[in-house]
Amino acid sequence: MTERVDTPTNFIRQIIDKDIAEGKHTKIITRFPPEPNGYLHVGHAKSICLNFNIARDYQGDCHLRFDDTNPSNESLEYVESIKDNVRWLGGEWDGPVRYASDYFDELYECAVKLINAGLAYVDNQSPEEIAEYRGNFTTPGRNSPYRERPVAENLQLFEDMRAGKFEPGKAVLRAKIDMASPNMNLRDPILYRVLNVPHHQTGDKWCIYPMYDFTHPISDAIEGITHSLCTLEFEAHRPLYDWVLDSLEGLHEFPSRPRQYEFARLNLNYTVTSKRRLKQLVDEGIVESWDDPRMPTISGMRRRGYTPEAIQNFCQMIGVARADSVVDVSMLESAVRDDLNKNAPRAMCVLNPIKVVITNWPEGKTEILTIAVHPQNESMGEREVPMSGELWIDRDDFREEANKKYKRLVLGGAVRLRGGYVITANEFEQDAEGNVTTVYCTYDENTLGVNPEGYKPRGVIHWVSAKHAVDAEVRLYERLFLEASPDRAEGGMLGSVNPESLKVLSGCKVEPSAVAEGAERFQFEREGYFCHDTTSTPEAPVFNLTVSLRESF
Ligand code: ATP
Ligand code: MG
Repeated sequence: MTERVDTPTNFIRQIIDKDIAEGKHTKIITRFPPEPNGYLHVGHAKSICLNFNIARDYQGDCHLRFDDTNPSNESLEYVESIKDNVRWLGGEWDGPVRYASDYFDELYECAVKLINAGLAYVDNQSPEEIAEYRGNFTTPGRNSPYRERPVAENLQLFEDMRAGKFEPGKAVLRAKIDMASPNMNLRDPILYRVLNVPHHQTGDKWCIYPMYDFTHPISDAIEGITHSLCTLEFEAHRPLYDWVLDSLEGLHEFPSRPRQYEFARLNLNYTVTSKRRLKQLVDEGIVESWDDPRMPTISGMRRRGYTPEAIQNFCQMIGVARADSVVDVSMLESAVRDDLNKNAPRAMCVLNPIKVVITNWPEGKTEILTIAVHPQNESMGEREVPMSGELWIDRDDFREEANKKYKRLVLGGAVRLRGGYVITANEFEQDAEGNVTTVYCTYDENTLGVNPEGYKPRGVIHWVSAKHAVDAEVRLYERLFLEASPDRAEGGMLGSVNPESLKVLSGCKVEPSAVAEGAERFQFEREGYFCHDTTSTPEAPVFNLTVSLRESF
């Protein structure tokens, strides 16, 4: 039952191991319960990996359940994006996609049972009165004047709520627990409120909706969840989770008695991980969309060129603990870099092109060079790279004069073209502003793949044959925020936005293999890791910088 893949253990797995050893469960069932009120972000990736990997390693099940009790902020667009993201990350949920709204009838039944047991009542206080009566951390709350209503009256009023006889704010169903509890969550929490909003799953069927704290434990119990894993901010809600299930014991049959366990949420520096904040970035036009490659959303990271494997590896690296901490975003970047270094095909792209004319190249000749797709992985094969008498090289790779540390092309010096010949620069032209436009070189036909005696090219540079190059747009990204804690910046999150987070280069020159069918992600040699943007076409390719070759500071 407990045969495991090599996932490192953590306190949750230890709890599960113990539960299994004590015979508490024969099958482990977890769930990932997103609210469809935004796109998933990197923090959700941690929760997805945790829940789905536990199910996988213990041969259990993991459910995908939308926690959709707040229709005002939810939408089908979010539902679809979340399903797509979970699947892309490798999460394979067991059974159908589930919705808390699937259980609205049963939740209503449970509420009626609590009323019958004298454990819930309809309160007609105004929202302001409810807040005032609730007290605060130092002052205990006071009982509502409606708290001692007879059961029959509560049943009738609750039915009236459901029938639409109350405006929002005129009636709520509350649990009868303890208005003096030191835990504010136990001061007669609201279980149902009136909300005249149609729902993306249930349409106009309901005008009352259950609250999260009531819905979640019951949904877990209905689904037979054994371990309900959530982030630490729910720790103080656990007594209420337990109260709901304990109160229904003997009143309502469930297949399991789930337990809630809390773990630390993922915080990343230079990043915001809150759907509300991310929505603000979209709504205020700071980024283009939820899947803007600068966004820490799963859709954004995917469009940026991150792989599911890299994100999974990152989640393994950070582990699961109970103490809150901030993870350095460079850990995520390095997980991406490691994965791409191993798996991304190599190609050449000249970002800031200047022309090289090879004066002794036979007129009109094209030679097809074969170059390894990956220098350390022969199984990835070879690619064909056309060579001709006019090339593009990068502006930064030529200087009229330079000292020995400059390992590129210098007037009078020799350099090797990656995968090709050694060339020597003899002359150059510049425009009126002094910008180099063309470098005239000669090549040595005896240098393909070898350095004959006496040859000491300064270094190796990348290049693309001018006749065969494809024009491309390249989008260079930097971090979206300048401050490690964007929210703490002066002026809040928006005060920390990096005005140079996106730089668009056009007229870049890319080798043909980078636009071939099936091409996806690349290391553009000496430049970084790139991927085709979602808007890219073979005729008008657009590349996103995924991550630089090395950590930049
Ligand atoms: P946000 O604060 O971004 O709105 P949320 O917690 O409201 O996040 P939900 O859709 O309710 O978002 O979350 C689904 C699951 O993902 C929950 O179990 C939640 O605890 C978990 N989760 C959310 N954010 C993080 C995070 N930063 N790190 C780890 N798990 C997270
Ligand atoms: Mg939430």
